Amino acid sequence: MLRYKKIFLGGPCNNDCTHCLPGWKDSPQVDFAPIRKLIENTDSDNIEFYGGEPTLRSDLGALITTARDEGYRRIKLRSNGRALANPYYLDDVMRAGCSLFDITLWGSHPHLHDRLTRVPDSFRETMSGLQNLSSAPYEKFISVRIPLCRENISDLEQTVVTALNVGVQRIILAMRDYTLSFESVRPHIANGINIGIFNRVWTATEGIPFCLMQGLEQHVGELFVGWESLTATAYRKHKRCTECVYDTLCPGAAAEHVERFGGRELTPVRSGARAEEIKALYEEKSRADLL
Ligand code: SF4
Repeated sequence: MLRYKKIFLGGPCNNDCTHCLPGWKDSPQVDFAPIRKLIENTDSDNIEFYGGEPTLRSDLGALITTARDEGYRRIKLRSNGRALANPYYLDDVMRAGCSLFDITLWGSHPHLHDRLTRVPDSFRETMSGLQNLSSAPYEKFISVRIPLCRENISDLEQTVVTALNVGVQRIILAMRDYTLSFESVRPHIANGINIGIFNRVWTATEGIPFCLMQGLEQHVGELFVGWESLTATAYRKHKRCTECVYDTLCPGAAAEHVERFGGRELTPVRSGARAEEIKALYEEKSRADLL
């Protein structure tokens, strides 16, 4: 599975999401020179730019071009997608060498999405950006990230359909609000994953441990990309986790969730053919990472 070198470009963002991490937006833009140094250290084939909102930088094209000239095979942009509503801007970004996009979508309709981004018209812009991406005449990979929170969980299935309708290649269901019980989220996640399967689009989760994903373990995204997230989530286990077959490969649940729910949602998986298959898959992936 592919690993990306992740480069933070600075906190400023043109959305004001209610579930943004505290202090996240307040960090200043990082200067071009230190970012270029990071890019020039080519210790990976793949690079991902994230913020804040990377498209607010006037030098984003230059950063992408630098990465391309350094020989990175895959250049990914994580964005709210609003700037991509301008087809000329999108064309510049893609011509510079960016071909992978990870776009955040909070809901299936403007009322919900704009309420969560706290920016009127942001849904329309993000959807236009996705549509422009979908029809852009370049090779590309489009992923939509749906952050899960109390306000949008009942809309999850519809949001998945909305993303599918613009032709995305992957959907990530990312736990963002740890005041929600996993139990309340799981049925929606299972539906979202099944909608993805029926439409032949890979759907993976982020921030949900294996014990909560029984029957759907192969959709635990961290199985493929590792547990280190951009948001530096602190994980915690419950003492019962030592009895779980996933103990050696699972870091637990977000500390905030374990503090709130006391670990009662974490039920050790004792055995099972599926668990053995998942562990074998993980070991296979770890071997492949070393090649
Ligand atoms: S019981 Fe603990 S170790 Fe097992 S999957 Fe759940 S969080 Fe991970």
